[in-house]
Amino acid sequence: MGKILVVGAGFMGSGIAQVSAQAGYQVHLMDIQKAITDRALRDIRWSVEKLEAKGLLREPSQKVLSRILPEKDLSSASGVDWIIEAALEEEGLKRDIFQELDRVSRPETPLATNTSSIPITRLAENTRHPERVLGLHFFGPVPLMGLVEVIKGEKTSPEIFERGVTFVQSLGKTPVRVQRDIPGFVMNRIFSAAFREAVDLVDQGIVRAEDVDVGMRLGYGWNAGPFEIADNAGLDTCALIGQSMRALGAGHLAPSSSLIERMVVEGRLGRKTGKGFYRYSPDGKRLPWENK
Ligand code: NAD
Repeated sequence: MGKILVVGAGFMGSGIAQVSAQAGYQVHLMDIQKAITDRALRDIRWSVEKLEAKGLLREPSQKVLSRILPEKDLSSASGVDWIIEAALEEEGLKRDIFQELDRVSRPETPLATNTSSIPITRLAENTRHPERVLGLHFFGPVPLMGLVEVIKGEKTSPEIFERGVTFVQSLGKTPVRVQRDIPGFVMNRIFSAAFREAVDLVDQGIVRAEDVDVGMRLGYGWNAGPFEIADNAGLDTCALIGQSMRALGAGHLAPSSSLIERMVVEGRLGRKTGKGFYRYSPDGKRLPWENK
């Protein structure tokens, strides 16, 4: 199997690293601080050991973990077969990362981004080989969710696009091809439309968040309601996605209210800080709804 560099070891980067290692790839997992890659490795250990205990891992967890190497810079980029960027949802930051990756990696290595909203074409703009840049939009938590959108930028070559599809399949995920590059792609635009309405209705005091989630589960057969999904994704990331959608001219897909931004200021980021729309115990269990 080949080698992968994952840039960003947060919620998504650590999940992408885990499923890649489980599929047999050797993974370089990079972030800006050692403390962050340390935490990612602890989270991955917890997750693969849980899978192992349930008999869902094909080999000992230790073997999977030994294939993930923490990195503090991008120097491994020159020796890998795939690069997946999963850093914060900020266009300037991602553009800088892509420019640096363009400089340090081999020109034929596919460069993928896990962005939720920013057109691939924009991130490829300052690279010398935009034909190798594509979107691989994973869904979180990555070890549990089966879907990856494969997105074609204006200049992505048909060959790289199809390699993206095959790569996603090699991770045991199902690819959905997005043939044209628009802000938020497809799945995120559809979710964002529902989420925008849900957030605005809650902020106007028309309904409680928990009741929206119950409603979407029972009324529409969703497996999780929009607020459960947002708490898992991280409300800081949701806020960045909303800001990005507005900046990209797709503001109709972002909440009108500032509820999410106010929660972020209060440190209510969702599951990652133990409180968001719901509260969570230190071991991640959701606690009963508090009547506020
Ligand atoms: P996160 O905040 O958990 O992780 C982002 C990581 O990027 C952090 O660990 C941060 O230290 C790191 N980072 C910042 N600057 C960096 C740099 N210069 N080089 C390397 N790493 C850097 O966020 P996340 O939820 O993992 O989201 C990451 C990306 O995935 C975003 O583009 C987001 O839109 C997208 N995404 C998120 C979800 C979700 O459910 N959270 C789903 C699909 C896609």
